[in-house]
Amino acid sequence: MFNLILFGPPGSGKGTQSEKLISKYGLKHLSTGDLLRSEISRQTPLGMEAKNFMDKGQLVPDEVVIGMISSALDENAEAKGFLFDGFPRTSAQAEALDNLLELKKTNIAVMLALDVSEDELVKRLLKRGETSGRSDDSNEQVIRARIVEYRTKTEAVADYYRRFDKVVMVKGEGGIDDIFNSLSLEIDNRL
Ligand code: AMP
Repeated sequence: MFNLILFGPPGSGKGTQSEKLISKYGLKHLSTGDLLRSEISRQTPLGMEAKNFMDKGQLVPDEVVIGMISSALDENAEAKGFLFDGFPRTSAQAEALDNLLELKKTNIAVMLALDVSEDELVKRLLKRGETSGRSDDSNEQVIRARIVEYRTKTEAVADYYRRFDKVVMVKGEGGIDDIFNSLSLEIDNRL
């Protein structure tokens, strides 16, 4: 199994690059944001609980997302590997993921971290809000709150993987294909 984390702030291009990477490498895409939005659209109790946090730009409680990822790993036991997108977002989530993967006799091969300036993030998210239908993209205050959550809670996740020498920074500004080629190169070096 080859498992990787695509890391970076909201608007850094994780979703766009994930789509390209899963089709090139045959990995199973696990995006906690997508999983949560699907729970919301099906109006499940989990979705209703998560929505309160998401609408404010706050992180959903760890136990909720960890439970979702645990089920998704079990449901995709035959996968060649997983691409984690938007997860883990806290140190507690990172530790839980390591434990879940260890139970499956596998681990994280690499964390690829997209680097994008804050001005560019806000610009991209507001533009995405015009078409994405995501309420958390169309309000600048909520966007800023999501970036604060990233800086205060999520950035530390990179430090967690740095301890194991698993983090590679990749420039996240420029052409989509250039960024994709940089990411692919890092994966090819580790396959
Ligand atoms: P995303 O689609 O990754 O931008 O996530 C959208 C929103 O879903 C975030 O602002 C959080 O409220 C919530 N969310 C997604 N993934 C996580 C996670 N791993 N931990 C906590 N909250 C999350």
